[in-house]
Amino acid sequence: MSKRLLDSWKSNRVKLKSVFKSFLSNTSKKNIDKNFAEEVHNEVFSEVNCLDCANCCTSIPPIVNKADVTRIAKYLGLKKNDFEDQYLYRDEDGDMVMKQTPCVFLEEGNACSIYDVRPKACQQYPHTGEYEFYNNLNLHVQNSQYCPAVFHILVRLQKK
Ligand code: SF4
Ligand code: SF4
Repeated sequence: MSKRLLDSWKSNRVKLKSVFKSFLSNTSKKNIDKNFAEEVHNEVFSEVNCLDCANCCTSIPPIVNKADVTRIAKYLGLKKNDFEDQYLYRDEDGDMVMKQTPCVFLEEGNACSIYDVRPKACQQYPHTGEYEFYNNLNLHVQNSQYCPAVFHILVRLQKK
């Protein structure tokens, strides 16, 4: 990711939070073309290399659902209960999430050691692609504070 994109996110994310909130509260499927949202998502991710960032993996514990537990435990050669005891806890919303932040599976160079079997929440983060954009409007404001890509997607969308 370019230094310009990263610096702009760091300097402006807090002050633009209320602008994004107002923009998204007035946003509906009718007033942003879904193809345009997808185009902006692809444009920003062509400029952002997640391996230069990993801010999500270092700051937001992902939800790990039952299917994730089955898949990851098998990959690690653990029993599901042992995997849960070792790596997960139940948060205040009742979701099972990774116990450790930064994530215990984050490796040197920001690679994920369980990439092929990573939780669905990690696969879908930051929920701005395809049809996901409109289903997660409230989340985008929050995520703009952690994810430079979400920040720049919202900056570009609200300029139009
Ligand atoms: S499981 Fe992998 S992708 Fe998910 S938070 Fe951990 S390191 Fe990141
Ligand atoms: S915070 Fe956003 S830009 Fe950074 S690694 Fe995660 S998804 Fe990629």
